[in-house]
Amino acid sequence: MPKLPNWLTDSLVLQRERQLWRQTKVLAAPQNTQMSLAGETYLSFCSNDYLGLADHPALKQALAEGALRYGAGSGSSHLVSGHLDIHDQLEQALAQWLGVERVLLFSTGYMANLAVISALGGKDCPILQDKLNHASLIDGAQLSQAPWRRYLHGNVDSAAKMMARMEQLGLLVTDGVFSMDGDIAPLSELVVLADQEHWMTMVDDAHGLGCLGDQGQGSLSLAGLKADAVTLLVGTFGKAFGTAGAFVACSQEMAEYLTQFARPYIYTTAMAPAMAAATLASLELICSAEGDQRRQRLSNNIALFKQSLPTQGVTLMASDTAIQPIVIGDSGRAMAVSAFLQQQGILCTAIRPPTVPAGSARLRITLSADHTQEDIVLLCRKLADAIDYTSGGE
Ligand SMILES: *Cc1c(COP(=O)(O)O)cnc(C)c1O
Repeated sequence: MPKLPNWLTDSLVLQRERQLWRQTKVLAAPQNTQMSLAGETYLSFCSNDYLGLADHPALKQALAEGALRYGAGSGSSHLVSGHLDIHDQLEQALAQWLGVERVLLFSTGYMANLAVISALGGKDCPILQDKLNHASLIDGAQLSQAPWRRYLHGNVDSAAKMMARMEQLGLLVTDGVFSMDGDIAPLSELVVLADQEHWMTMVDDAHGLGCLGDQGQGSLSLAGLKADAVTLLVGTFGKAFGTAGAFVACSQEMAEYLTQFARPYIYTTAMAPAMAAATLASLELICSAEGDQRRQRLSNNIALFKQSLPTQGVTLMASDTAIQPIVIGDSGRAMAVSAFLQQQGILCTAIRPPTVPAGSARLRITLSADHTQEDIVLLCRKLADAIDYTSGGE
């Protein structure tokens, strides 16, 4: 193969030196709280499968039946000939669940965010975002070429000040639950602010939908708001839903606008129809009594984790969600804590800059409805050992 340029190989060397090397783990079993890696079984605290649905029999059955009925692929984009009746059923079921006029499906959350922000943002529509918004929201703003700013994390005053300074009406964008911190945006206040100033609002509730609020309707529901209190609500299926893909919930008119102008919607193959079938089964589960039970187990696990954590050397963040980060600071030490836990049979990924701000490398612990109380207690005990072990040299 042709030799690669020096700037490229140099950047790889630097990445290793800074303890920022990223690497794929190859797992050999379904996504649940036990994971199989290189012949060993681990207790996992790094999956976003918060409700334990990724390996649920009802979803697997729906996926298999969907494939037998509709085939493996959708064959083209939604607008050409890839939009099957099962996609339509899923869109309508989601719209009904959330009480909105329309839902549009996307193949991934990353693309839904790129699509919405790049279609709306522009020189006449600036974008204002929370500083800790997900990378896909930031990338959407960059793709839109709109003027854009970031306000201080979770800070409505900072958002109001920046909004006042921006000359046009624009789009205010926030995560519902922040993916690396686990805290929830001040949605009620942000919605009031945006309404007063006649800005559009967009909430990405990738980590809230399914887990929080009435029937798992997410962080808006938890804040006492309906989904149609915001201009656009983005949800993803790769987390609590246990499948893959994403959606945008909005008005009929906004859906029409996105259908005309959102390039990442137009120029991509539709989600596999079997995935839509599995996601529909997941939605049914999420709205059912089993969904309520799973949400209850998850919140019991969150409470137990917070109670059982060692008090020495551990800084917990202000999170009441399934995302419970433990900030370590230094990237090398975060890696060492993660490696120690792995030796002890526990998988928990270290998250480093630039995914999180410099100096705030952390363990991102994610809890699931399927963790047992013993799992949680064991994690806390091993975590204390790991913190002790890696503080030796300081
Ligand atoms: C995971 C995530 C996404 C991306 O969704 P995918 O379907 O995995 O591409 C978008 N936004 C937030 C906040 C996320 O956590």
